[in-house]
Amino acid sequence: MDRFIPLSIPNFEGNEKKYVNDALDQGWVSTGGAYITKLEQELAKFLHTDNVAACQSGTSALHLSLVEAGVKPGDVVLVPPLTFIAAVNPVRYQFATPVFIDCDDSFCMDPQKLRSFCEQECVWDGTVLKHRERPVKAVVVVHVFGNMADMEAIMDLAERYHLKVIEDATEALGTKYTDGKLKGKYAGTIGHFGAFSFNGNKIITTGGGGAVTANDPAVVDHIRYLSTQAKNDPHYYIHDEIGYNYRMTNLQAALGVAQMEELPAFIRRKQENFERYQEAFAGFELAELMSFRDGTDSNKWFYSLRIDRRRISASMREIITALEKKGIQTRAIWGLINVQRPYENEETYQLEKAPYYAERILNIPCSTQITEEEIRYVADEIKQLLEALANG
Ligand SMILES: *Cc1c(COP(=O)(O)O)cnc(C)c1O
Repeated sequence: MDRFIPLSIPNFEGNEKKYVNDALDQGWVSTGGAYITKLEQELAKFLHTDNVAACQSGTSALHLSLVEAGVKPGDVVLVPPLTFIAAVNPVRYQFATPVFIDCDDSFCMDPQKLRSFCEQECVWDGTVLKHRERPVKAVVVVHVFGNMADMEAIMDLAERYHLKVIEDATEALGTKYTDGKLKGKYAGTIGHFGAFSFNGNKIITTGGGGAVTANDPAVVDHIRYLSTQAKNDPHYYIHDEIGYNYRMTNLQAALGVAQMEELPAFIRRKQENFERYQEAFAGFELAELMSFRDGTDSNKWFYSLRIDRRRISASMREIITALEKKGIQTRAIWGLINVQRPYENEETYQLEKAPYYAERILNIPCSTQITEEEIRYVADEIKQLLEALANG
């Protein structure tokens, strides 16, 4: 079998080479240059927001958001257990303490459990929410796989308890509400901060890169200042704050500007391919393709198949290895963050759905270039394999 269908690879069918070469020709390769500003403007326009700062990664975007949110050593930050670990590590960079809150069936944070944690495990003194004497400052909400978290409920709660909401929209560029109070709002522009990633497997890529936005444009300016070593003066080295070397380079941004031109087409293809998979798995009893939240238009970045564990006891590793032999690259959803060594002693709150899905979700090929024929092949092979593995 010579064919290989990757899980998720970048797509450079547009002006990528042209713009990167242009940046090279002009000699602007580092953290200054017109492509950086252009990318920031394109992102702001696309997201219908005022101000976006481009930075070096999604992780740095999240870290700068926490810094700007005022998260300090000893503070509590509420985080998800079932996502990529980079959503949580910046909490530790600030020497704050994460508490893991369960997800709902969208894989995103469960607002009911978030509420009951705030009401039952914390004390509200009218200005500060405290958990075991420590201030609860912020909540990191991840829009997992391009799904939208229940932001209406989460924002209501955040307002009530003065929590800063940091949206990890690294996987959800382009996902938006089409209904309800937040109609028209894009993932990453609803909370106090929104972080995006342009890593290799995200819906657009700059090789490595990210961006951050905030509900206050002046705050974005300050984030940009912090990301460029907090330099106050164009001529003299004067620094009033601790800065970071977190700025995106012009080379990366050149790639990003080209990718932004293609983003609407990428989203369309992801959505169409999702529908093809839906048709292919319709009525199949051993696995179900998970859908996205009603009332939203998702970028459908990653596709999730829920394996029926009553019928199939084979490990994810067995399933993944068997598909690999057929030239199909898949992966298991992440391991829970709260069981990883650096977090194993941290507090968790009512984790039920996160461990449930951690054992059942298989991510299947979702690159924008995947063909109809490949989708049929992937679905057929997965169905055959699961049927062979099924007991009873
Ligand atoms: C990709 C990703 C990040 C980190 O982005 P980088 O650009 O790789 O630093 C953070 N959180 C989630 C949920 C991600 O998927």
